[in-house]
Amino acid sequence: MSSPGSSQRKATELSQHYEEKVRPCIDLVDSLRSLGVEKDLNLPAIAVIGDQSSGKSSVLEALSGVALPRGAGIVTRCPLVLKLKKTAGTMGKLWNGSLTYKNYKISIDNPSEIEAAVLNAQTALAGGGEGISHEMITLEIQSPDVPDLTLIDLPGIARVATGNQPIDIENQIKSLIEKFIQRQETISLVVVPSNIDIATTEALKMASKVDPSGKRTLGILTKPDLVDRGMENMVVRTVNNEVIRLKKGYMIVKCRGQQDINDKLELDKALEKEKECLLEDGKATIPLLAERLTKELVKHITKTLPQLQKELQMKLDKTSEDLRALGEGVPLDENEKSNFLIMKIRQCNDAFEKIKNAEEDVAKGATKVFTKMKEKFSEWKEILDLKTVKSEDILREEVRDYIRTQRGKELPGFVNYRTFEKIVKTHLDELEEPALNLLRDVKEIVHRSMNLTISLHFKAFDQLLRAAKDPIEDFLDIHFEEAEKKICSQFKMEKIIYSEDKIYSSHLSNAKLKVISFNKTQTSADVQEMAYHLSSYLKITCHRLANQIPLIVQYHMLNQYISENQNAMLALIGKKSPGMLLSEDSSIARERKELKERMERLKNAGKVLSKFVHSA
Ligand code: GDP
Ligand code: MG
Repeated sequence: MSSPGSSQRKATELSQHYEEKVRPCIDLVDSLRSLGVEKDLNLPAIAVIGDQSSGKSSVLEALSGVALPRGAGIVTRCPLVLKLKKTAGTMGKLWNGSLTYKNYKISIDNPSEIEAAVLNAQTALAGGGEGISHEMITLEIQSPDVPDLTLIDLPGIARVATGNQPIDIENQIKSLIEKFIQRQETISLVVVPSNIDIATTEALKMASKVDPSGKRTLGILTKPDLVDRGMENMVVRTVNNEVIRLKKGYMIVKCRGQQDINDKLELDKALEKEKECLLEDGKATIPLLAERLTKELVKHITKTLPQLQKELQMKLDKTSEDLRALGEGVPLDENEKSNFLIMKIRQCNDAFEKIKNAEEDVAKGATKVFTKMKEKFSEWKEILDLKTVKSEDILREEVRDYIRTQRGKELPGFVNYRTFEKIVKTHLDELEEPALNLLRDVKEIVHRSMNLTISLHFKAFDQLLRAAKDPIEDFLDIHFEEAEKKICSQFKMEKIIYSEDKIYSSHLSNAKLKVISFNKTQTSADVQEMAYHLSSYLKITCHRLANQIPLIVQYHMLNQYISENQNAMLALIGKKSPGMLLSEDSSIARERKELKERMERLKNAGKVLSKFVHSA
């Protein structure tokens, strides 16, 4: 190998510097795109848009040096990612192409094969008619003659549907274009013919709708050779950004006209011809456009990168959270499947046990059954307290009332035991309904929590969920009725009127000691005596009910009910086949699969990104 001359060395250094900066930057986004993260994140890109026949394909052709499908009607029917990679081109193959869509990758050895390959791919994605598709085709070209650039070619905006085009073709195309150009990450390259009134072009209208100041819109004027005489000045003013202002401004290029194509004018010869026609003042010619676009793209990628990293991290967090919520899928092996079922059931039963023992982990979305139940118990206690603190004045009033309305043949002053019994019973009657309400409230609390616990544990498994929930209503009714019966008989028992003698005497003497302040002259001694008795007995009976009713409620609605559910749950093991119980809802399985794929994509993208950032 001979040592290179100094000018050649300089050129190599320049190109090395260029390679170091430009290529990795564009490669980064290309590789992110080929990982499929375009589905999850918006990647920096240059999208080419234009009205039909504005010269879009011609510009792309001139940039890429290869003939793309062209013709009348809608030729571009899918977004086409055109990846241009400049190669050193000093050794081996000069030109290299490949086409990728869906899971296909076709390698292309000769530029002349491209047109047919693209048309084939479009037919595969968008059908044989003239419909469009949002699925992308990627055309990669490696050559010494192309700029380092990636562009996305979009269908041209058609005004009216013709032939076998769908009726709403214009809207379909517009919404595909909008999807790309409304992203902040997209630079829009708007191709506009010089020989028409720029203000009337649909493409420019669309671009300025999503980017009014034109900070990410670059105008490309085509067909300068077709400008009518006398209109040249208007074109110059447009290029100088004096007509419709865009922050990024305009460039003007001349491509092959129909006559050039008919004459089989080679693309490189066309560039020569362009030079003759246009001034190279920095705003014209294809080579300068190529240079400008590469610079724009690299600048844009560099600017977008931090935000992209941030968004990637957010998406990753969200995806892994969603995935965790769905849980891991069911193992395939039968043995493992049955172990998995046992584990699932045990986890749910453990959660039941915690509800029973007031150990629920509130952090895990538990409902604090015990706390809520205790609240209901204290409400019950308050109702009872209201009875016992009833002032003796009121009790005396009740005794007097009773005597007045119910007195039989006895002479005044004879207050008998029956009066006492009657009044106690009225008070007990008043307590029965609140006691049953307490039972109903607790039933609701426990039932809701059981339902929730089962849903939480088995939500991915339709069958298991149904099997586990199946008995809970029945058990609930059974234990509710048991408790109801016990409460009713408790009240019946209370009406026997009983207290152990010593306990009763001590309450009675306490009552008598306490009340000294009332006006004895207004109350007969027997009424007063009765009030003492009533007050003492109500204290005793309320005390008993304050313990007894909650005990019954807790025993049946919590302990018995939950235990029974636990047994039923264990009985599921072995009763039904694990495979059947664990058959997942198909939408859940699909969702998990999608999430896993996204997770994989994003993780890979994260690796690519952080590698790039650290090597930069
Ligand atoms: P597209 O529908 O936007 O892709 O437009 P094409 O690239 O297919 O161009 C439409 C027609 O305009 C074709 O016949 C091209 O040859 C022609 N054309 C494109 N650029 C120029 C140009 O700079 N000068 C002339 N005279 N014709 C051009
Ligand atoms: Mg075209």
